[in-house]
Order: sequence, then structure tokens, then C-alpha cells
Amino acid sequence: MTEQAEPSAAEQQPATRAITAGRGHSRSSLAPALWASSTWESTGLEDANRRALGVRSQEFYGRYANPTVRSFEEAVAALEGAEDSLAFASGMGALTTVVLALCSAGDHIVAQRQLYAGTLAFLQGPCQRFGIDVTLVDGTVPGAFAEAVRPGRTMLVLAETPSNPRLELVDLDELGALRGPFTVVDSTFATPLGQQPLAHGVHLSLHSATKGIAGHNDATLGVISGERELLDSIWAYSVLHGATPSPFDALNALRGIRTLAVRTNQQSATALRLAEAFADHPAISAAHYPGLSTHPQFDLAKRQMRNPGTVLAIDLGGGRAAADALLSRVRIARVATSLGGPETLVCHPATSTHASLTPAEAALMGVTEGLLRISVGLEDPCDLLADFAHALG
Ligand SMILES: *Cc1c(COP(=O)(O)O)cnc(C)c1O
Repeated sequence: MTEQAEPSAAEQQPATRAITAGRGHSRSSLAPALWASSTWESTGLEDANRRALGVRSQEFYGRYANPTVRSFEEAVAALEGAEDSLAFASGMGALTTVVLALCSAGDHIVAQRQLYAGTLAFLQGPCQRFGIDVTLVDGTVPGAFAEAVRPGRTMLVLAETPSNPRLELVDLDELGALRGPFTVVDSTFATPLGQQPLAHGVHLSLHSATKGIAGHNDATLGVISGERELLDSIWAYSVLHGATPSPFDALNALRGIRTLAVRTNQQSATALRLAEAFADHPAISAAHYPGLSTHPQFDLAKRQMRNPGTVLAIDLGGGRAAADALLSRVRIARVATSLGGPETLVCHPATSTHASLTPAEAALMGVTEGLLRISVGLEDPCDLLADFAHALG
């Protein structure tokens, strides 16, 4: 037999990449090594100076970089098809660092209205206070982002797809075609295996790795991916901002990545079965899931997503009372916020994740009193179908 070179990351299928990537800082250990260290020893002044001035030097000081975190970043970069990735203490740590690294007083941001509530609160609160102007658009309307861009002033265009909590989509090709501003996509709901924003020309893909990437409800982490030069400049600000990821959380997330493909395959298959059952249920006025042919952006989902995702939402015709009744009757699904873990979670956005919205904002975002968001877990689909059938009465 002739020796064959291993296929490079780009030649491997995504599920294989999830296994092969991020192994550079663990020597011969198959499990990732946990580097808990916050500081590293220098051999002398010259060495200390080299470590202090190096870009993303891994053996200098914990806030600058860490080898376990670096392994996680390399794994995410391989999955995103990116030159590099940069991790943060949380998804919000990633988001706020990106905005404050790239935008200054007087700059303008275009963002969609359908956003994670924390992101929206940051854009409407601190950004205003720092003199960064924000225009919100409906991300599902073709051309809406381009129309809101102010040439020379818009520094950042921020989108989230699928969006929280109603699984609305933004056309990634349209975002990637924008010229001038930096384009950032919060791709959390899709996971890096569900879609690749960078392949559409977007500058930065952002994840709350707390969700599907880590996938076991045991890590709080964020990550961005893109071209190295851009990431290096964001890194230079990030060491001042200090939303530094924990090496232990990076370790858990790296372990999560190994099973990301099987988890998301199973979770999205179950999500589709649930969505189909919900779509036909008399107590449910609307089921929102990009994998349903009745979803208004079903064709777009097929075009830009590898699977329709692990989260769905339903509107209960009976409003808040019906939502309350369902939450008190589920036995397998649990009532909790967050998503992407092994347990199926149900949350009522109006009183939890989106409780900070004004009634007008909630109405614009479609956060009704009867809306429930469901993060589909890894339980047997038959048990989940039975659980919801019983809870819906
Ligand atoms: C959870 C979430 C965030 C924030 O991430 P944290 O890790 O909780 O800080 C941002 N965007 C989306 C879409 C999320 O679901």
C-alpha cells in the first residue's frame, strides 16, 4: 500500500472535520488537554518581550490566549470554513466585543429587528449611550439591509438567522453581497454544521457556543470566525474588553463538537416530526419551522441550510392561558431557557427571554402571549410526540 496524505480539513465532510479538528495543543492525547494556566514563564527579557508583543501568543497570559481555547477555536474555524476563529466568555461577550472593536461614536449599525433580546438591548441601550446609531429593519424583507445602509457611515450590518424566537431567515447571499460595512451573522440557531455564512461572503460568523456547539448545558462560551486579519484586530481590542473564555468551558465545547453532527442530525429530524404534528393540531394556530413546506422561507432554507435546525416555535390559539397549561403538563420536555442541549426545553419568550421588550417591540417581533419556543433534544421522538400530545390535551 502506498502512503496517502490525510485529506485536508477542506476536503473532509463536515462530520469528519468535527472529529479531526482542534487537536493541535494536546500532544498525543485523544481527549483535549485542559490548560488551566493563567500565566506562563519566560526565559528572559527577550522572551518576555516576544510573548508580550505577539499577536494571540498562547503562552503569555490567560486573557491573551490559552492553548485549550485555541484548540476549540481551531475546531470551529475548520467547521466554518474560516481562516481562524476567536472565542469569548459568552455569546454576548462575542457580540459586544465585535461591536465595540469595530464601531466608534458617530458610526451607524444596521441590524434586523428579529434578534436575540440581549443583542437588541445592547444595540438600543449602550450603543445609543456611546453615540452609535442603530437602524432596525425587518430581516425577512428582500433588500431591507441594503436600503438602510448609509454609505460612509454604516460600519456594521448585523443579522441573525434563523432568528430567535420565530425562526425567520435572512438571505445570506444578500448580506454577503453588501459592500462597505462589515457584515456579521449570528448563526447560533444553525450551528456551524447547519450553515456557513462565510461561504456566502459574510465577514464574520458568530455563535453563542453555549447552545448547540457545546451542546450539553455545561459551558458558557461565544465564538466568531472569519479572516485572520480582521480577527487579529478584534483580538487586540478583546484583550482590553476582557470577555475571556474559560479553558474549562472550551474543553467542554470541544467535546461537544465531536458529537455535533449526530446530535444536530437527530435533533433536526425530530424537530421536523414535531413541527409536522404541531402544524395539524387544532390547538396550535401556527407552527414555525424552516423545514416545513408551509414556512414562508422554505425555499431559502433549502438553499442556505444543510438542515432546518433543532429549534421550532408554536403559536397557541389560546394565548397565555394555553401556554401556561402546556408548560404545567409536559413531563419529558422541561421548562427552561437556552437551546441545543440533550434535553428538550420549552420556553415562553413573552415572560422569559423576551420579557424586556415593550409591547410594541414584542408585537413587531411576533412575540405573542401564546408563543412557545421549543429546543428539541435527544429523547426518542415517539416519547416527545406523546408528551406534547398529552400536554396539548
Ligand atoms: C444565547 C444567544 C446569544 C447570547 O449568548 P450567551 O452565550 O448567552 O451570551 C446570542 N444570540 C443567540 C441567537 C442566542 O441564542
